[in-house]
Amino acid sequence: MIDFHSHTNFSYCADKDIDLSDYKKEIDKNPILDGVCITDHGMSIYFPNEVAWTWEFIRNEYVLDQHIDKGNARLEEYINLFSEYKNSSIHCGLEVEMSENGRLIYDPFYRNRLIPLIGSVHFLFSSKKYGFSLCDILNEWTYHTERLICSGIDILAHPFRWICGQSPVDYRLVEQIVKCAHKEGVALEINGHNVTLPIYDADKAMLNIAAEIGAKVSFGVDAHRKENIGDFSYHMKLLNDCGLNIRDINLLSRKELYEKHGRQLAT
Ligand SMILES: [Zn+2]
Ligand SMILES: [Zn+2]
Repeated sequence: MIDFHSHTNFSYCADKDIDLSDYKKEIDKNPILDGVCITDHGMSIYFPNEVAWTWEFIRNEYVLDQHIDKGNARLEEYINLFSEYKNSSIHCGLEVEMSENGRLIYDPFYRNRLIPLIGSVHFLFSSKKYGFSLCDILNEWTYHTERLICSGIDILAHPFRWICGQSPVDYRLVEQIVKCAHKEGVALEINGHNVTLPIYDADKAMLNIAAEIGAKVSFGVDAHRKENIGDFSYHMKLLNDCGLNIRDINLLSRKELYEKHGRQLAT
């Protein structure tokens, strides 16, 4: 099994002592874990801590321009870490947000060295906190998420996590997002980190619809600490609760991801 989404201490929200060597150790001893794509947060790589958590880069893309040179230097430092792990089934990806006007928060110059590129909604200003109505929150989120799906990402990370914290999510909305991702060839992620009951319900609907129409699905552990590495228990439980077998879903493979980008699969 491949984990397409996990973190190291390059991400502010991960433990300070988790790094690539921990993933190598787990891959070496855990027969279930065939490989891991590390997808640290672009916002942690591009912005200092105090800038990142203001989320100002979401509504003002010039925050990215201000930090682009230092951010790119740090991104290269991050990418270079992987050369030591070339034959270890540890791969270099990135997790990014998108600004309100549709720009992914990183430098696309590095795109072909970041596979997968996963897109996430972690924060929107159109939220309860800023006094928006439920109707406006849902409309803004749907518009933003569909635009994110069309932005060139490989995987839509934890598709319903943010909106589940804002509003009830009905079956029709899940179906709309699954169909949009399917049409664009973007994988829908089952993410095992910080799952609440509303997220579980949305994931269940998402997995059932994806299985029915053959939409691509990816598994992300979203490890932030050593104990999480290689833990697919949520993914297995969800499959089981949906009455599905792993062969019933169109699970993303690294081979097809690399073929999509015209690259040879490294061993
Ligand atoms: Zn995330
Ligand atoms: Zn993550």
